[in-house]
Amino acid sequence: MATQPAAFLGHGNPMNALENNRYTDAWRTFANSAPEPPRAILAISAHWYVNITAVTAMERPRTIHDFYGFPPELFAIDYPAPGDPELAAEIVDLVRPTYVGLDADSWGLDHGTWSLLVHMFPNADIPVIQLSINADQPLAYHLELGAALAPLRDAGVMIIASGNVVHNLGLVDWSKPGEGALWAQTFDDQVRTIMTTDPGSFASVSELPGFHQAVPTPDHFLPLAYFAGLAQAAGTTARTLVDGCDMGSLSMASYAI
Ligand code: ZN
Repeated sequence: MATQPAAFLGHGNPMNALENNRYTDAWRTFANSAPEPPRAILAISAHWYVNITAVTAMERPRTIHDFYGFPPELFAIDYPAPGDPELAAEIVDLVRPTYVGLDADSWGLDHGTWSLLVHMFPNADIPVIQLSINADQPLAYHLELGAALAPLRDAGVMIIASGNVVHNLGLVDWSKPGEGALWAQTFDDQVRTIMTTDPGSFASVSELPGFHQAVPTPDHFLPLAYFAGLAQAAGTTARTLVDGCDMGSLSMASYAI
């Protein structure tokens, strides 16, 4: 079984699910870089940010429309991929002694996951499970848990972490479509240097001067820690899939190993 690639994908505005642009092109190119179709996909989305580490374990995860104020076409999207309860149980064993709960009926696939997958695997025929992000845990926990998931790649599982390197909705500037404020671009560039040269030093990101402005809440940033952990475990540096900022305070940067 060939080793599957892993990625951090900047998902940005939910409308990307309905659009075709350079970001959605990059997501599709990444999916096509798999040496063979993955056995399953493990997604770590910014939008399942709760007080426990859990993995979806239902046969049929529901499509969750976890946003408001968007057009009906976006609410109409269904991504009917099957779940994979066996893989969920494998993950519980794999990362022990770290505790992972099995979620039988609470979550499903949120838009951090399906807005990417509708482009990557439009047939929705590959099983998908989601791992929650435990809001109670420090950065080191997420890095280590990411690294602990690395053997899944050799077992045919594609891992995608979905968030944004810079995500400050309070500073969104609608007059800046397709560009970032200087502070956002600077932080994005510094993170890119770390990811593409030394992901082992990822923890130093929180010491960067722009960190608190770029990461006012950890939810969209922490998926990158899982990806950095995977890169560390693989002993490799990340390659940039696509770069760019949007609306002043969002980075759309995506990385792969
Ligand atoms: Zn989001």
